[in-house]
Amino acid sequence: MSTVKITIDGIEMEVPSTYTILDAAREHNIDIPTLCHLKDINEIGACRMCIVEVEGARGFVTSCVMPVSEGMVVRTNTPAIRDARKVTLELLLSNHDRKCLTCVRSENCELQALAKKLNITDIEFEGEMTEGELDEVSPSIVRDPKKCILCKRCVAVCKKVQDVGAIDTINRGFKAKIGTACEKSLNDVPCTMCGQCVVACPTGALREKDATKAVWRALQDEDKFVVAQTAPAVRAAIGEEFGMPIGSLVTGKMVAALKRLGFDKVFDTNTGADLTIMEEGTELIHRIQNGGKLPMITSCSPGWVRYVENSYPELTDHLSTAKSPHQMFGAVLKTYYAQKMGIDPAKIFVVSVMPCVGKKAEADREEMQVDGLRDVDAVITTREAARMMKEAGIDLSKLADEEFDNPTGEATGAAVIFGTTGGVMEAALRTVSEVLTGKELENVEFENVRGEVNGIKEATVQIGDLEVKVAVANGLKNAGKIMDMIEKGEAPYHFVEIMACPGGCVTGGGQPIHDAKTRATVDIHGLRKKALYEADKNLPRRKSHENPVIKELYDEYLGTPGSELAHKLLHTHYHARHYFED
Ligand code: SF4
Ligand code: SF4
Ligand code: SF4
Repeated sequence: MSTVKITIDGIEMEVPSTYTILDAAREHNIDIPTLCHLKDINEIGACRMCIVEVEGARGFVTSCVMPVSEGMVVRTNTPAIRDARKVTLELLLSNHDRKCLTCVRSENCELQALAKKLNITDIEFEGEMTEGELDEVSPSIVRDPKKCILCKRCVAVCKKVQDVGAIDTINRGFKAKIGTACEKSLNDVPCTMCGQCVVACPTGALREKDATKAVWRALQDEDKFVVAQTAPAVRAAIGEEFGMPIGSLVTGKMVAALKRLGFDKVFDTNTGADLTIMEEGTELIHRIQNGGKLPMITSCSPGWVRYVENSYPELTDHLSTAKSPHQMFGAVLKTYYAQKMGIDPAKIFVVSVMPCVGKKAEADREEMQVDGLRDVDAVITTREAARMMKEAGIDLSKLADEEFDNPTGEATGAAVIFGTTGGVMEAALRTVSEVLTGKELENVEFENVRGEVNGIKEATVQIGDLEVKVAVANGLKNAGKIMDMIEKGEAPYHFVEIMACPGGCVTGGGQPIHDAKTRATVDIHGLRKKALYEADKNLPRRKSHENPVIKELYDEYLGTPGSELAHKLLHTHYHARHYFED
């Protein structure tokens, strides 16, 4: 790799010639402020917070887009630079709804942090503000244009990473704003509700639809039996909301904190994940042996499901009919569990704690109910769960570990790895392999299907006489590539795992939000993923079909995987969606 020698603020350094000034400065702990910059996603130099002086250049240059060159001499912190940044930020703030006290992003807002860093204590400019209506129609996401700073990070993520393009800049000049086609609600355009724009947004302009009030109401209702279930990815991230290092595995502390919130029971959605593997694995074997629609594609990522329903409506029959783990688990809680424990199912209120904002929309789908009872009554994200804990004065980081409640608290390592890309595939292969061959696996780790962020991974797995061809993709752009292959009849796979969010659920749209600098310099996905694989390794059972709770559930209630009752409770149908017909 070729390198160049440059000097920044008097510090000489040798850096790769492909670097920008910002890259070089960050690598040498020189702090240049940014706002619109999101590494590899939104590098447009629009906000002008990262301006620097370069010897020989006229005026300021934006360091996030300016490549380094041999002998370059850069200054990042002169009085002129500081003044210019301050004026730019004050102008931005003059057109901003500065209600920090009641803003969900307060203390985790890059705009607020920058105002503090630049020592802005007063705004000289006051005047007209850009108009914009609050959009809270979507069950998953709220858009508040009054808190938008037009950084376009959301637009870039939606277009470049997810290849959806549900939002864009509309109008020009002072009237410019982020909007949707025909200025419809996000709910009425092909938004997948993946929430990747929410975690990319530096301010409170995009946030999840709050469900904490509904959950508090249920917890205070003595007539309700309120149950929490937590997805695998939450335990690898919620500690970050309490100042713990990224990727801290806090399963026991999380359970303890949820119990202190007043939930009657705290269960592990991983039990639902084991159940999903039993049903999905059986469906796959059935499709392979009976000439069913292949490749079969996982359906546990609701953002992915909405994407198929909207962008590839004629291919929805490739989706597994299995409901996602938390929906399955909700249905089981209100039937089998209610019956076993002698609880009126109508009194059970199921709260799913999820790394995902799309799960809110999924739980809202009309078909996600059994005999008139919703599978899941409320979905809160990892961030909302942390907010509730803070509201109740609970510091998760200080709590001693507690165990998930039984009888449905048991789960396997296969279920834990659902939280990262490739995990569902690996979990399914562990079970499908043993069920089809009748032989115990010597090595349960299918490392060749473990996914990488923003990639497609293909593998061939020998199961008995059968060569099973699989693919794993994360991020909707990659998903689209696989769907195009299927559309053309060129996809050679039996089974495909797709997660809407790049990296899978550990980096889902409901997870703790880190600023752009942390995103650029820390492998957030890698650290959280490592935590889940460690958890898998340390569990005594690592295959879904070995879970005694699951065995008991089939023996006592469901019969066999794929039975009529299993279909009634645990399966659904996905269908085409047409947003622009009305
Ligand atoms: S978006 Fe940031 S600056 Fe704006 S009100 Fe919220 S916390 Fe304050
Ligand atoms: S939720 Fe996903 S699809 Fe919808 S606007 Fe945001 S990034 Fe785009
Ligand atoms: S909604 Fe957020 S990410 Fe999108 S342009 Fe506005 S401030 Fe930036």
